[in-house]
Amino acid sequence: MPQAAARVLASGVRLPPMPTLRDLVKLYKLQAIKHMSQNFIMDERLTDKIVKSAGRIDRSDTVLEVGPGPGGITRSILRREPGRLVLVEKDTRFMPTLDLLKECARPLHTEVDIYQGDILRFDIEKHVPMSEHRLHLIGNLPFAISTRLLINWVQDLSLRRGGFRSLNTAMTLTFQKEVAERICAPLGNDQRCRLSIMSQIWTKPYLKFVIPGKAFVPKPEVDVGVVKLIPLKQPKTDLPFELVERVVRHIFNMRQKYCRRGFSTLFPPEERDEMTDTSFELADVDPTVRPFQLSVDECLRLATVYADFKEKHPEVASYDYRARKNPVEESADGV
Ligand code: SAM
Repeated sequence: MPQAAARVLASGVRLPPMPTLRDLVKLYKLQAIKHMSQNFIMDERLTDKIVKSAGRIDRSDTVLEVGPGPGGITRSILRREPGRLVLVEKDTRFMPTLDLLKECARPLHTEVDIYQGDILRFDIEKHVPMSEHRLHLIGNLPFAISTRLLINWVQDLSLRRGGFRSLNTAMTLTFQKEVAERICAPLGNDQRCRLSIMSQIWTKPYLKFVIPGKAFVPKPEVDVGVVKLIPLKQPKTDLPFELVERVVRHIFNMRQKYCRRGFSTLFPPEERDEMTDTSFELADVDPTVRPFQLSVDECLRLATVYADFKEKHPEVASYDYRARKNPVEESADGV
C-alpha cells in the first residue's frame, strides 16, 4: 500500500487509519464510468454536509446508501455511527474498497452490509428490517436513474411498502440542480412539473444546498442540488398512485397550454369536450390556467373526478390517446 495510503481520515477520529479517497481511487485504478453516472465527491467537508442534511442519525437508526462508490459519503455516515449501514452499489470494482471500509469500521458499533446490484431492483423489505426507528435513504445518485428512483420510492411511500413501511423514513438525495429545483418548485413557479406535484403529494421536499459541478471528479456539465424529502404523516390523497400519476402526466404533457388541453387527452375524442368541461366544473378548477399554476389540491380534485368517470365509463380507463393511429391528432397536440 502506498505511503499516502496510511493517512488517517481528517475528522473521523473514531475510524481507524485507512487510505484516503484519492489513494483508493489510485490504488484500485478506479476510473469513472460514464454510463454509471459516476461523479465522485472527494471533499470530506462536502460529504459531511450532505450527511448532516439528513438530520440526526443515532445508534438506533439504519442508513441505506445508494451508490457509495469509493466511499466518501459512506465515511461521513460511519462517523455518525448508525446502528446499521446498508450499501447498494452496482459497480463491482468498488467491492474491495467497500470491504476495506467495512473492515476498518469494525470497532464502531455499526453493522455494515454490502450489496452489489442495481438499486432499482433492490428489495428493501427483504434486506432492511423495519422498526420504529428512523431509516435514512441517502445517496449521491447516479443522474441516469435519479428521477426514476425517486418516483419508485414515492410510489412505495403511497403504498407504505419497501422503505416506507414506517413513516420514519426520510430521503436525502442529490439530483441535477434543475431537477432538484423542479422537485421543490412551489405553486406558480415555472419549473413546476409532474415531479413537483407527485413529490409534494406524498412528501415535503427541501432543497438543502447546491454543490457546484467543479466539486466532483470528474466534473459533470451541471451543478447538483441536495434535496431532503420527508414523508407527510398525512398524505394529501388516498387515491392510487398510478391514477394520480396518469392524470398529472396528462396535464403536464402540454405545459405551455391551458391545463384543460392536456387533461382532455385522458378522454376519447367523441366525448372529450363534454367530459373535460364537466370535470373542471365538478372539480371547481379554472380550465384556463397553465399547468404550473395548478395547486396540488386542484390536481387532486381533477384526479378524483377522473376516478369517478372511470368507474362509470370503464372504457375511459384504457384509453391512450398516444396510441391512436390518427397522425393529424398527434401533431395537432404538439407532442
Ligand atoms: N457516493 C459516491 C460519491 O459521492 O462520491 C459515488 C456517487 S456517483 C454519482 C454514483 C454511484 O452510483 C457510482 O458509484 C455508481 O457506480 C453507482 N450506481 C450507478 N448506477 C447504480 C444503480 N443502478 N444501482 C446502484 N448503484 C449505482
